[in-house]
Amino acid sequence: MNKEPTTETTLAVLIVGAGPTGLTLACELARRGVSLRLIEAVPGPQPGSRGKNIQPRTLEVFDDLGIVDRVMANGRMAMPMRSTAPDGTMKEIVTETLGDRPDVPYSATLITPEWRVEESLRLRLTELGGTVEFGTTFGSFNQSDESVTASVVKDGAIEITHARWLVGCDGGHSIVRKQTGISFEGETRDEIRMIVGDVEVDGLDRDAWHLLSHNEGVFALCPLPSTNVFQFQAG
Ligand SMILES: Cc1cc2nc3c(=O)[nH]c(=O)nc-3n(C[C@H](O)[C@H](O)[C@H](O)COP(=O)(O)OP(=O)(O)OC[C@H]3O[C@@H](n4cnc5c(N)ncnc54)[C@H](O)[C@@H]3O)c2cc1C
Repeated sequence: MNKEPTTETTLAVLIVGAGPTGLTLACELARRGVSLRLIEAVPGPQPGSRGKNIQPRTLEVFDDLGIVDRVMANGRMAMPMRSTAPDGTMKEIVTETLGDRPDVPYSATLITPEWRVEESLRLRLTELGGTVEFGTTFGSFNQSDESVTASVVKDGAIEITHARWLVGCDGGHSIVRKQTGISFEGETRDEIRMIVGDVEVDGLDRDAWHLLSHNEGVFALCPLPSTNVFQFQAG
Protein backbone atom coordinates (compact mmCIF):
# COMPACT_ATOMS: atom_id res chain seq x y z
CA MET A 1 0.00 0.00 0.00
CA ASN A 2 1.73 3.20 -1.07
CA LYS A 3 -0.94 5.77 -0.28
CA GLU A 4 -0.12 8.31 2.43
CA PRO A 5 -2.07 8.06 5.71
CA THR A 6 -5.02 10.46 5.54
CA THR A 7 -7.33 10.56 8.54
CA GLU A 8 -6.68 11.21 12.24
CA THR A 9 -9.19 10.65 15.02
CA THR A 10 -9.01 10.51 18.79
CA LEU A 11 -11.27 8.17 20.69
CA ALA A 12 -11.39 5.99 23.79
CA VAL A 13 -11.53 2.47 22.36
CA LEU A 14 -10.69 1.02 18.95
CA ILE A 15 -12.27 -2.43 18.60
CA VAL A 16 -10.98 -4.74 15.88
CA GLY A 17 -13.50 -7.35 14.72
CA ALA A 18 -17.31 -7.23 14.72
CA GLY A 19 -18.15 -10.84 15.55
CA PRO A 20 -20.14 -11.57 18.72
CA THR A 21 -17.22 -10.54 20.97
CA GLY A 22 -16.53 -7.16 19.35
CA LEU A 23 -20.23 -6.34 19.00
CA THR A 24 -20.93 -7.17 22.65
CA LEU A 25 -18.04 -5.02 23.80
CA ALA A 26 -19.17 -2.18 21.55
CA CYS A 27 -22.71 -2.31 22.99
CA GLU A 28 -21.39 -2.38 26.57
CA LEU A 29 -19.18 0.65 25.92
CA ALA A 30 -21.81 2.56 23.96
CA ARG A 31 -24.45 2.16 26.69
CA ARG A 32 -21.96 3.73 29.11
CA GLY A 33 -21.20 6.64 26.83
CA VAL A 34 -17.62 5.55 26.05
CA SER A 35 -16.49 6.64 22.58
CA LEU A 36 -15.56 3.76 20.31
CA ARG A 37 -14.77 2.78 16.78
CA LEU A 38 -15.67 -0.77 15.69
CA ILE A 39 -13.93 -1.90 12.52
CA GLU A 40 -14.57 -5.10 10.57
CA ALA A 41 -12.50 -6.39 7.65
CA VAL A 42 -15.25 -8.15 5.70
CA PRO A 43 -17.48 -5.97 3.51
CA GLY A 44 -20.78 -6.92 5.18
CA PRO A 45 -22.53 -9.22 7.67
CA GLN A 46 -21.36 -12.84 7.54
CA PRO A 47 -24.04 -15.43 6.73
CA GLY A 48 -22.89 -18.67 8.46
CA SER A 49 -24.71 -20.31 11.36
CA ARG A 50 -21.38 -21.31 13.05
CA GLY A 51 -21.85 -21.28 16.87
CA LYS A 52 -25.56 -22.04 17.15
CA ASN A 53 -25.76 -23.03 20.85
CA ILE A 54 -26.32 -20.08 23.15
CA GLN A 55 -25.66 -20.97 26.77
CA PRO A 56 -28.08 -19.92 29.57
CA ARG A 57 -25.54 -17.54 31.13
CA THR A 58 -25.03 -15.85 27.76
CA LEU A 59 -28.81 -15.31 27.62
CA GLU A 60 -28.48 -13.50 30.97
CA VAL A 61 -25.88 -11.21 29.41
CA PHE A 62 -28.22 -10.59 26.46
CA ASP A 63 -31.04 -9.85 28.92
CA ASP A 64 -28.90 -7.20 30.59
CA LEU A 65 -28.06 -5.78 27.17
CA GLY A 66 -31.75 -5.56 26.27
CA ILE A 67 -31.68 -7.99 23.35
CA VAL A 68 -32.74 -11.31 24.86
CA ASP A 69 -36.31 -11.18 23.49
CA ARG A 70 -34.99 -10.41 20.02
CA VAL A 71 -32.45 -13.26 20.19
CA MET A 72 -34.97 -15.75 21.57
CA ALA A 73 -37.54 -14.84 18.91
CA ASN A 74 -35.07 -16.22 16.36
CA GLY A 75 -34.25 -19.39 18.29
CA ARG A 76 -35.57 -22.47 20.00
CA MET A 77 -34.81 -23.63 23.54
CA ALA A 78 -34.20 -27.22 24.65
CA MET A 79 -34.35 -28.71 21.18
CA PRO A 80 -34.65 -32.53 21.41
CA MET A 81 -32.33 -34.83 19.48
CA ARG A 82 -33.54 -37.69 17.33
CA SER A 83 -31.09 -40.47 16.59
CA THR A 84 -31.61 -42.75 13.62
CA ALA A 85 -29.62 -46.00 13.40
CA PRO A 86 -28.42 -47.49 10.08
CA ASP A 87 -31.40 -49.90 10.18
CA GLY A 88 -33.83 -46.97 10.43
CA THR A 89 -34.80 -47.35 14.09
CA MET A 90 -35.28 -44.02 15.84
CA LYS A 91 -34.64 -42.91 19.41
CA GLU A 92 -35.57 -39.56 20.97
CA ILE A 93 -32.83 -38.07 23.18
CA VAL A 94 -33.96 -35.34 25.54
CA THR A 95 -30.97 -33.65 27.17
CA GLU A 96 -32.71 -30.53 28.48
CA THR A 97 -36.23 -29.78 29.68
CA LEU A 98 -37.66 -26.29 30.00
CA GLY A 99 -38.66 -25.45 33.57
CA ASP A 100 -36.18 -27.92 35.07
CA ARG A 101 -34.38 -25.12 36.91
CA PRO A 102 -36.80 -22.55 38.37
CA ASP A 103 -33.84 -21.05 40.29
CA VAL A 104 -32.12 -19.75 37.11
CA PRO A 105 -33.50 -17.21 34.59
CA TYR A 106 -32.92 -19.34 31.50
CA SER A 107 -32.95 -23.07 32.08
CA ALA A 108 -31.77 -24.41 28.73
CA THR A 109 -29.55 -23.62 25.77
CA LEU A 110 -30.99 -21.78 22.80
CA ILE A 111 -30.39 -22.89 19.22
CA THR A 112 -30.07 -19.96 16.85
CA PRO A 113 -27.68 -19.14 13.99
CA GLU A 114 -24.69 -17.01 14.98
CA TRP A 115 -25.50 -14.51 12.22
CA ARG A 116 -28.87 -13.88 13.91
CA VAL A 117 -27.11 -13.08 17.20
CA GLU A 118 -24.76 -10.70 15.38
CA GLU A 119 -27.79 -9.11 13.71
CA SER A 120 -29.44 -8.47 17.10
CA LEU A 121 -26.22 -7.06 18.55
CA ARG A 122 -25.71 -4.78 15.53
CA LEU A 123 -29.25 -3.48 15.85
CA ARG A 124 -28.70 -2.78 19.58
CA LEU A 125 -25.47 -0.99 18.77
CA THR A 126 -27.31 1.19 16.27
CA GLU A 127 -29.95 1.99 18.91
CA LEU A 128 -27.11 3.03 21.21
CA GLY A 129 -25.68 5.36 18.55
CA GLY A 130 -22.85 3.12 17.31
CA THR A 131 -22.12 1.43 14.02
CA VAL A 132 -19.95 -1.25 12.43
CA GLU A 133 -17.43 0.00 9.88
CA PHE A 134 -17.39 -2.89 7.43
CA GLY A 135 -14.59 -3.19 4.86
CA THR A 136 -12.11 -1.65 7.29
CA THR A 137 -9.02 -3.70 8.09
CA PHE A 138 -6.67 -3.27 11.02
CA GLY A 139 -3.02 -3.25 9.96
CA SER A 140 -0.64 -2.53 12.82
CA PHE A 141 -0.19 -0.45 15.95
CA ASN A 142 2.29 1.29 18.23
CA GLN A 143 1.59 2.03 21.85
CA SER A 144 2.79 4.41 24.54
CA ASP A 145 1.90 4.45 28.22
CA GLU A 146 -1.14 6.61 27.46
CA SER A 147 -2.47 5.55 24.07
CA VAL A 148 -2.32 3.45 20.94
CA THR A 149 -1.74 4.56 17.37
CA ALA A 150 -3.18 2.15 14.84
CA SER A 151 -3.21 2.04 11.07
CA VAL A 152 -6.32 0.75 9.33
CA VAL A 153 -7.10 0.36 5.66
CA LYS A 154 -10.46 1.55 4.34
CA ASP A 155 -11.39 1.93 0.67
CA GLY A 156 -7.75 1.32 -0.25
CA ALA A 157 -6.52 4.22 1.89
CA ILE A 158 -4.54 4.06 5.11
CA GLU A 159 -6.01 5.84 8.12
CA ILE A 160 -4.13 6.52 11.33
CA THR A 161 -6.31 6.31 14.44
CA HIS A 162 -5.35 7.33 17.98
CA ALA A 163 -7.19 5.64 20.84
CA ARG A 164 -6.73 5.23 24.56
CA TRP A 165 -7.28 1.48 24.18
CA LEU A 166 -7.07 -1.08 21.39
CA VAL A 167 -9.08 -4.29 21.83
CA GLY A 168 -8.49 -7.28 19.57
CA CYS A 169 -11.79 -9.12 18.98
CA ASP A 170 -10.50 -10.41 15.67
CA GLY A 171 -11.02 -14.13 16.20
CA GLY A 172 -8.82 -17.19 16.55
CA HIS A 173 -6.14 -15.93 14.14
CA SER A 174 -6.11 -12.47 15.74
CA ILE A 175 -3.52 -10.11 14.26
CA VAL A 176 -3.84 -7.86 17.30
CA ARG A 177 -2.95 -10.76 19.58
CA LYS A 178 0.03 -11.77 17.42
CA GLN A 179 1.39 -8.22 17.20
CA THR A 180 1.01 -7.87 20.96
CA GLY A 181 3.04 -11.04 21.46
CA ILE A 182 0.31 -12.83 23.39
CA SER A 183 0.43 -16.57 22.81
CA PHE A 184 -2.58 -18.74 22.02
CA GLU A 185 -2.63 -21.62 24.48
CA GLY A 186 -3.92 -24.91 23.09
CA GLU A 187 -3.19 -27.35 20.34
CA THR A 188 -4.38 -28.21 16.85
CA ARG A 189 -5.40 -31.82 16.38
CA ASP A 190 -4.68 -32.28 12.67
CA GLU A 191 -6.27 -35.73 12.64
CA ILE A 192 -9.66 -34.30 13.63
CA ARG A 193 -11.62 -32.60 10.88
CA MET A 194 -15.27 -31.57 10.72
CA ILE A 195 -17.40 -30.45 7.81
CA VAL A 196 -20.00 -27.83 8.70
CA GLY A 197 -22.45 -26.16 6.35
CA ASP A 198 -25.90 -24.60 6.15
CA VAL A 199 -27.94 -26.73 3.77
CA GLU A 200 -31.47 -27.09 2.44
CA VAL A 201 -33.00 -30.53 3.11
CA ASP A 202 -36.22 -31.92 1.72
CA GLY A 203 -38.55 -34.13 3.73
CA LEU A 204 -36.94 -33.87 7.17
CA ASP A 205 -38.87 -32.74 10.30
CA ARG A 206 -37.74 -29.44 11.77
CA ASP A 207 -38.84 -30.33 15.30
CA ALA A 208 -35.60 -32.05 16.39
CA TRP A 209 -31.84 -32.11 15.91
CA HIS A 210 -31.24 -35.25 13.82
CA LEU A 211 -28.30 -37.59 14.35
CA LEU A 212 -28.10 -40.03 11.46
CA SER A 213 -25.83 -43.04 11.75
CA HIS A 214 -24.61 -44.93 8.74
CA ASN A 215 -22.10 -47.70 8.31
CA GLU A 216 -19.11 -45.34 8.15
CA GLY A 217 -20.05 -42.97 10.93
CA VAL A 218 -22.57 -40.35 11.91
CA PHE A 219 -23.69 -36.96 10.70
CA ALA A 220 -25.99 -34.36 12.20
CA LEU A 221 -28.64 -32.07 10.73
CA CYS A 222 -29.90 -29.37 13.06
CA PRO A 223 -32.84 -27.19 11.96
CA LEU A 224 -31.88 -23.55 12.30
CA PRO A 225 -34.82 -21.58 13.72
CA SER A 226 -35.79 -18.43 11.82
CA THR A 227 -34.37 -19.91 8.59
CA ASN A 228 -35.38 -22.67 6.16
CA VAL A 229 -32.00 -24.44 6.38
CA PHE A 230 -30.28 -27.03 8.57
CA GLN A 231 -26.74 -26.96 9.93
CA PHE A 232 -24.95 -30.06 8.61
CA GLN A 233 -22.07 -31.46 10.67
CA ALA A 234 -19.98 -34.51 9.87
CA GLY A 235 -16.66 -35.82 11.07
C1 LIG B 1 -18.25 -24.02 11.76
C2 LIG B 1 -18.23 -23.44 13.16
C3 LIG B 1 -19.09 -23.96 14.12
C4 LIG B 1 -19.06 -23.45 15.40
N1 LIG B 1 -19.92 -23.98 16.34
C5 LIG B 1 -19.94 -23.46 17.60
C6 LIG B 1 -20.88 -23.90 18.59
O1 LIG B 1 -21.70 -24.80 18.35
N2 LIG B 1 -20.86 -23.33 19.81
C7 LIG B 1 -19.98 -22.31 20.11
O2 LIG B 1 -20.00 -21.81 21.25
N3 LIG B 1 -19.09 -21.87 19.19
C8 LIG B 1 -19.05 -22.39 17.96
N4 LIG B 1 -18.17 -21.94 17.04
C9 LIG B 1 -17.24 -20.92 17.43
C10 LIG B 1 -17.85 -19.55 17.33
O3 LIG B 1 -18.27 -19.33 15.99
C11 LIG B 1 -16.75 -18.57 17.73
O4 LIG B 1 -16.40 -18.85 19.06
C12 LIG B 1 -17.23 -17.14 17.64
O5 LIG B 1 -17.48 -16.78 16.30
C13 LIG B 1 -16.15 -16.24 18.20
O6 LIG B 1 -16.63 -14.91 18.11
P1 LIG B 1 -15.60 -13.74 18.03
O7 LIG B 1 -16.39 -12.48 17.91
O8 LIG B 1 -14.63 -13.85 19.16
O9 LIG B 1 -14.75 -14.02 16.71
P2 LIG B 1 -15.23 -14.09 15.20
O10 LIG B 1 -16.68 -14.43 15.09
O11 LIG B 1 -14.24 -14.95 14.52
O12 LIG B 1 -15.08 -12.60 14.72
C14 LIG B 1 -13.83 -12.00 14.48
C15 LIG B 1 -14.05 -10.92 13.45
O13 LIG B 1 -12.82 -10.20 13.29
C16 LIG B 1 -12.69 -9.86 11.93
N5 LIG B 1 -11.28 -9.58 11.66
C17 LIG B 1 -10.26 -10.46 11.61
N6 LIG B 1 -9.10 -9.82 11.33
C18 LIG B 1 -9.41 -8.51 11.19
C19 LIG B 1 -8.64 -7.34 10.89
N7 LIG B 1 -7.30 -7.40 10.68
N8 LIG B 1 -9.27 -6.14 10.81
C20 LIG B 1 -10.63 -6.06 11.03
N9 LIG B 1 -11.40 -7.13 11.31
C21 LIG B 1 -10.80 -8.35 11.40
C22 LIG B 1 -13.22 -11.09 11.19
O14 LIG B 1 -13.62 -10.77 9.87
C23 LIG B 1 -14.40 -11.49 12.07
O15 LIG B 1 -15.63 -10.93 11.64
C24 LIG B 1 -18.17 -22.42 15.74
C25 LIG B 1 -17.31 -21.90 14.76
C26 LIG B 1 -17.34 -22.39 13.48
C27 LIG B 1 -16.40 -21.82 12.43
